[in-house]
Amino acid sequence: MDIAHLMQRAEEFYAEIALEYYNNYAGLSDEFRIVEIVGKYPELFSRETYDEVMALEPDGQAGIDERELKLLRYFVTGNYFTAETKYLVEEKEKKEAALTVEHKGEKLAYRSVPVVNANEEDVRVRRELDGKALAALDGELNPLYEQIFEKLHALTGELGYENYTDLTGQLTGLRLEWLRDTMQRFVRETNNLYREALDEYAWTLLGLRLGELAQCDIGRLMRADTFDPMFSQERMVPVLKDTLSGLGIDLDAQENVALDLESRPKKSPRAFCVGIRVPQDIRLVLTPIGGAQDYSTLFHEAGHVEFYAHMDAKLPFLYRHEGDTSVHENFAFLLQYLTTDPAWLEDVLDRVRFDDYVRFSRFNKLYMLRRYATKLDYEYGFWPNYDLDAARRTYREKLTGTLLFKYPSKRALSDFDQGYYVAKYLQAWLAEAAIRKHLRGEFGRKWYRNAKAGDWLRTVWAEGQKYDIHELLAHFGLPKLSYKPALDDIREHLG
Ligand SMILES: [Zn+2]
Repeated sequence: MDIAHLMQRAEEFYAEIALEYYNNYAGLSDEFRIVEIVGKYPELFSRETYDEVMALEPDGQAGIDERELKLLRYFVTGNYFTAETKYLVEEKEKKEAALTVEHKGEKLAYRSVPVVNANEEDVRVRRELDGKALAALDGELNPLYEQIFEKLHALTGELGYENYTDLTGQLTGLRLEWLRDTMQRFVRETNNLYREALDEYAWTLLGLRLGELAQCDIGRLMRADTFDPMFSQERMVPVLKDTLSGLGIDLDAQENVALDLESRPKKSPRAFCVGIRVPQDIRLVLTPIGGAQDYSTLFHEAGHVEFYAHMDAKLPFLYRHEGDTSVHENFAFLLQYLTTDPAWLEDVLDRVRFDDYVRFSRFNKLYMLRRYATKLDYEYGFWPNYDLDAARRTYREKLTGTLLFKYPSKRALSDFDQGYYVAKYLQAWLAEAAIRKHLRGEFGRKWYRNAKAGDWLRTVWAEGQKYDIHELLAHFGLPKLSYKPALDDIREHLG
C-alpha cells in the first residue's frame, strides 16, 4: 500500500472540502457539495482502503510507525462512515439550511432562532419561537437524524465493534469511562455552587425563578448584554492584534493567515477558523459586532488559527489534521479565556469595573462544564443501550436534573456531538486551566505580554497534534488531567 500517495490525496481532499465549507459559511456560495467532493476521492473512502489499512502492521512494509498508524486507522474508519452516510448528512444540511419558522409575521431561518432568542427580552416570545423551532426540528430533521444514528450504529456492528463507544475507545485511546466518572464527581461537587449562582443570575438577569427556567432561556441568560459596553466593536480586532503582539506574533505580517472581516448578507454570524492548507493557508472569518460573546469567540478562533499557522509544514498530514483535537481546543480556550482574565481585562480594556463580568464568566464556565459532563454521561450510555425512545427520556431527565433548565426531549439527537467531541471539549477545558496556571507561574500574571511565553507556545504548536492531551501535560511536567485547576479558578472568582 502506497501510504505517501494516500496522504497526498487526503491533503487534496481536505483543501477542497475546507474551501467548500469556507465559501458556504463565509456567505460566498449557497452550495455545500459533500457527496460530489467525496466522490472524487474513492481511494480515501472505499471499504478496500479501510480493510488494507486495518491489516497493516506498524513498522512493516508500508513504512508507518505505530503512532501514525493509530491515527490512520481512525482516519479511514471515519472516512468509511462518511462514505456510508454522506447522502443523509448532505440532505440534513440542505434541509436545515432552508428550514424557516414564522416569527412576528416573517419567515425566520431555523438556524438563527438561538441568536434571535438570545436577544429577545420577552420570555413569552422566546417560548413561542422555541416551540415553533422544536416542531420544525421534530417534523423535518429528526427523521433524518434517526436514519443517520441507525446507520452509524449498524456500521459499528458491521465492522466488528460492540458499539460506537467501544469503537472510539479501541481506536483513539480516549479514556471515556474515566472521564465520565471524573466529571460526574465534578457535577456532584458543584451542585450547591451552581444552584445558588443560577438562582441569583436567573432572577437578576431574567426576572425568573429556578423552577420557571426552560432551555430556550439559557441563550438569553448567557448573552448578558449588560457587559457589552466593555467590549466595543471598533476595538475588537485591534485588541486581538495587540494581545498577539505581546506573544511576539504580528498578525498583519503572517502571510499564511487571512482575515475575512467583510460583511456579507449570508455570512455566518459566528466567527470561525478554517485551515485550507496547514500551515500555508489559514483563514479567520468574522463580522465584528462587539459584545462580550463576540470577543470570546474571536479569541477562541484566533487560538485555533495560531495553532494551525505555527505547525511545522514538514509534519506528516496525520499530525496536522488528525490526532487528539482536545489539544486544538485547549489552545483555543487558552486565548478565549484571556477575555475573562482579570489581568488581561485591566490591561487591555482600560476599565476599572469588571469584577461582575469576571464573576459571571466563571458561572458561564461552570454551566458549560456541567452541561458537557452531563452530555458525556448521556452519550456514553447512548450506544451500549441503543434505543432512541429511551434516549429521548434519558436526555431530558439527565440535562434537566443537572442544569435545572427544562430540556426538551426533541433535542436528544440534534444536541449530540459526533465522534465523541463532547469528551474532547471536556479534556480541553481541564487541560487549559492547568496550562494557564503553568504559564502564569513561569512567565507571570501577565504571561501574554511575555515574548518568552510566545516562544514556549510556538515550540508546542510546531508539533501539531502528534501528542495527545495527556502526553502534552506530561511533557511539560504538569500534573495528570484533573478538574482541580478549573474548579479552583471557578471557586476563586464565583465562590
Ligand atoms: Zn474550538
